[in-house]
Amino acid sequence: MLETVAFIGLGNMGGPMAANLVKAGFAVKGFDLAEPARFAAKANGITLCDTTAQAVGGVSVVITMLPAGHHVLSVWGELAETVGSGTLMIDCSTIDVDSARKSHVLAGAAGCLSLDAPVSGGTTGASAATLTFMVGGEADALSRGRPVLEAMGRRVVHCGSAGAGQAAKICNNMILGITMAGVCEAFVLGEKLGLSHQALFDVASTSSGQCWAISTNCPVPGPVPTSPANRDYKPGFAAALMLKDMRLSQEAAKSTGAATALGAHATELYERFDQLGHGGEDFSSIINFVRNRTS
Ligand code: NAD
Repeated sequence: MLETVAFIGLGNMGGPMAANLVKAGFAVKGFDLAEPARFAAKANGITLCDTTAQAVGGVSVVITMLPAGHHVLSVWGELAETVGSGTLMIDCSTIDVDSARKSHVLAGAAGCLSLDAPVSGGTTGASAATLTFMVGGEADALSRGRPVLEAMGRRVVHCGSAGAGQAAKICNNMILGITMAGVCEAFVLGEKLGLSHQALFDVASTSSGQCWAISTNCPVPGPVPTSPANRDYKPGFAAALMLKDMRLSQEAAKSTGAATALGAHATELYERFDQLGHGGEDFSSIINFVRNRTS
């Protein structure tokens, strides 16, 4: 029999993820603070509740999809006092590794199983149920959670113990932030050398410069018709979210003593770009900032 799921945080990601659980046959109870998210969730077959406590009554799995670590710790603190022991708690938000580990401790003290399971794939993957889940936690928690995660995504990767999912997410997105900045610099240098965008794409997308930032999310219009550059940089993956993840990588680097000089430099670029008011654009639009810099 399918488990009953409570879904807390029904925003741009959580809303479509919860809707996919309903489509897969799970009974889903939900809660969100924001009226537009509540309205959309109700239209997608989620049983709306007035509080977190009400949403988790009688469920065996709880999923949170919230903005940041402090939201998750506050909601999980409340959950630890309300859910029954044996409940599986899964956090899919992107948060710092320390908060993820603390949330596992809260769940463990309440006799619950827990997973950190951040995602990649964005809002498109959330709607199409093609997300990749990067999972941290014990194997028995994952075997219980796997059918729930598989109803919302295409790949579930067990990365290790508590916090390992968030660690993988932060490292992956630091690679993404750095490679996009590098691809943008290469296209701008190519422009100054009189090279066409298409010529550079044809070479780099099939050579050692190949990466997602060039072959899927190419920052110039033309070579990849589906990339945000062809629609005025409408996201896609918003620059403000890229900055959030870059900052998480830098907090983690500081707390572990890891040297991430390129990560630090890329973070600074996204920070300055965000301060200029471009946080709502796809992060590949940082090419316009790179192009206008003089040094
Ligand atoms: P969002 O702001 O659209 O949704 C977050 C929702 O949480 C909001 O609707 C808000 O009202 C709700 N919320 C906040 N505090 C709450 C509380 N105490 N109780 C109940 N609801 C509460 O954000 P999103 O784009 O859905 O992102 C969610 C998480 O997923 C973030 O951690 C983000 O970094 C991560 N993420 C986002 C994307 C993306 O492309 N949007 C991709 C990968 C990961």
